[in-house]
Amino acid sequence: MGLRLVLLGPPGSGKGTLAQMLDERLGLVHLSTGELFRQEISRRTALGGRVSRYVSRGLLVPDALVVRVMTSRLTPGRLRRGIVLDGFPRTVGQAEGLDRFLRRLRQPLGAAVYLACSNAVLLARLGGRQVCSRCGAIYHVRNLPPRRRGICDRCHGKLVVRRDDRVATVKKRLQVDTAQAKPLLDYYTSRRLLHRLNANGSSEHVFKRAVGLFRRQGWDDPPTCLPRR
Ligand code: AMP
Repeated sequence: MGLRLVLLGPPGSGKGTLAQMLDERLGLVHLSTGELFRQEISRRTALGGRVSRYVSRGLLVPDALVVRVMTSRLTPGRLRRGIVLDGFPRTVGQAEGLDRFLRRLRQPLGAAVYLACSNAVLLARLGGRQVCSRCGAIYHVRNLPPRRRGICDRCHGKLVVRRDDRVATVKKRLQVDTAQAKPLLDYYTSRRLLHRLNANGSSEHVFKRAVGLFRRQGWDDPPTCLPRR
């Protein structure tokens, strides 16, 4: 059975980038609420319409809706491969909803990994972040530039700055996140699932630290095959 992992951490801590690397290199299925919502908004679906007024202002989408949308994507096949959840859960209510769902399937969460980062690093990263308007891949003008400026390496889509990465919204997101984070960290600490990972430095360094953590914890069973030592 695959590893079921939640990534926690403030905006800019690198959850999306690490989750993308765990998907591409270790075969875990990456599910991101933020990415999912942005795609629904750009496709103008009914769900997109319901969440856009929250997302564009950096506010949290109501728990019941987020839990319903995310658990509907946790299919048995994906759970077998292993999943890495990025941006979900964000509140204790969501964490409880996720736990209830996974317990019903007898596939409880394996770990919650908190990406710890300094404030200076967070602001610098969010300042230069770009995402692909087509496939959602994440880049950074300095730390993770695409091969061709403004163009996605994976699908050749156009890179854009997310609306909620603009300065006023970034500050609001960091405030909302700080207020929400502590109870969630306490929740996973009390369940002995929380692990802290130093998320300062390059994405390669953070990925190596994550693999080191997985090995120390003995989470390197198939199908989440870790790279050879
Ligand atoms: P992110 O890409 O994770 O920073 O998410 C972008 C925006 O999507 C957030 O500012 C929220 O408006 C919304 N969002 C993403 N994940 C959640 C969640 N788990 N609960 C509520 N709102 C969310």
